[in-house]
Amino acid sequence: MKLDKFYINGQWVDPVKDETINIINPANESVIGQLNVGNEQDIDKAVTAARKAFSNFSITPVQERLELLTEIRNIFKKRFDDIVDAITTEMGAPIKLSRGAQAAVGLGHLKTSIRVLENHKFEYEFNGSLIRHEPIGVCGLITPWNWPINQTISKLGPCLASGCTAILKPSEISPLSANVIAEIIHEAKAPAGVFNMVHGLGPIVGEALSSHQDVDMMSFTGSTRGGIAVAKASAKTVKRVSQELGGKSPNIILDDSAFESSVKIGVEKIMENTGQSCNAPTRMLVPKNRHEEAMQIAKLVAENLKTGDPKEETTDIGPLVSDVQYEKVQRLIESGINAGAKLVTGGTGRPSHLNKGYYVKPTVFGDVDNKMEIAQEEIFGPVLSIIPYDSEDEAVEIANDTDYGLSAYIAGENTERLREIGRKIRAGQVHINYGSGGTNAPFGGFKQSGNGREKAEWGLEEFLETKAIMG
Ligand code: NAD
Repeated sequence: MKLDKFYINGQWVDPVKDETINIINPANESVIGQLNVGNEQDIDKAVTAARKAFSNFSITPVQERLELLTEIRNIFKKRFDDIVDAITTEMGAPIKLSRGAQAAVGLGHLKTSIRVLENHKFEYEFNGSLIRHEPIGVCGLITPWNWPINQTISKLGPCLASGCTAILKPSEISPLSANVIAEIIHEAKAPAGVFNMVHGLGPIVGEALSSHQDVDMMSFTGSTRGGIAVAKASAKTVKRVSQELGGKSPNIILDDSAFESSVKIGVEKIMENTGQSCNAPTRMLVPKNRHEEAMQIAKLVAENLKTGDPKEETTDIGPLVSDVQYEKVQRLIESGINAGAKLVTGGTGRPSHLNKGYYVKPTVFGDVDNKMEIAQEEIFGPVLSIIPYDSEDEAVEIANDTDYGLSAYIAGENTERLREIGRKIRAGQVHINYGSGGTNAPFGGFKQSGNGREKAEWGLEEFLETKAIMG
């Protein structure tokens, strides 16, 4: 497989220089292809195309943009299986997750972007002024590999809906699904330059995009480290930076009759996508008197999950994405053991039936102190920390005792009581009994989880400037 072209100004073009990196299949560590990586000059070409396209695209009638998004959605549906296959191949998500969630959510974002665009008031009178919401301009979109389509379409849908033009820099680890998206947009006949894509490494291509004089906004999803780098590089040109960063989400489980199922679902949720979700409920807070019981339930659930080939329909847990991620997770499991947490199941090394691929054992720690590294660091693997608490107030205190604030979970039988606790949590999304607002609820973090809000109306607003015409 050769991914040796970038998509610029409505065409597949050769990179300025011929530099490549390998694309690895994490399930068997084999090289499945080469990816050409770009540099500042490729970014320059893409920004020039996006700037030129902005003059016309920014003033297109809403109806035209609705037609474009509808066409993209129709072609996405046609290419659905290609997207599913690309995701599983490039980052190892179990095929049933790629189909049921990873790819499906892309369709959800497109549907929501269309609904939002149909209803948005771009101009209105207020207190004697004419208020306008105008597209901010040329936007750099930098995405991670862990939910590649979710992250790409949750930016691209509102970006195109707003009338902005885009340069996408997908994660160098997950370029296959990004290429399918570029093909879809090409087939949908987006005007030349409205969408551009340059592959490459973060510190080179991502940095060039962030520091570019003619880029008006950066929308970044990835690690807190990467988000800080983008914000620093963007500061010199005073562009808007929207950051969607890491998390270490608490899951407060109350002492009531829902306890058993709350623990069970909590364990399944952290193991989903092999623990590689920014909003995974990685810290399970349980009442001290039910700590033993929680560990027993968690052990049973974790040991029942099937780890293996992500292309098999029955697989629950695939490989981690890369050797770097494998080493990091191993180190953190070791750190938990050394810090004195109780290893309930799992541990270091591969599961015994697998000798190739970046597979790790689904791991549960009990007796975790929230100060331990495993409770503070984003592990990004199938590793759960169970933390006992004495009172509800203490649970809230532990939940908020983190640098992050992306998501939180609260489970129990009384919704009003759960909501009351939810009001005290410093996080952008609070899931009551694992409920979700899908693509229609705002998504983003407090604290070091970022400053952006994606999805629905909030996602569109990120790409708009507000203007007052007065007098
Ligand atoms: P990463 O920060 O390493 O990379 C993300 C993207 O940023 C990639 O495209 C990468 O090439 C680019 N990048 C890296 N360094 C850069 C730099 N100096 N300048 C510009 N671009 C740079 O993150 P990752 O490992 O790909 O993804 C996992 C992280 O993403 C986790 O921390 C996870 O929590 C986070 N994430 C957050 C959300 C969210 O919505 N909050 C969603 C998914 C993932």
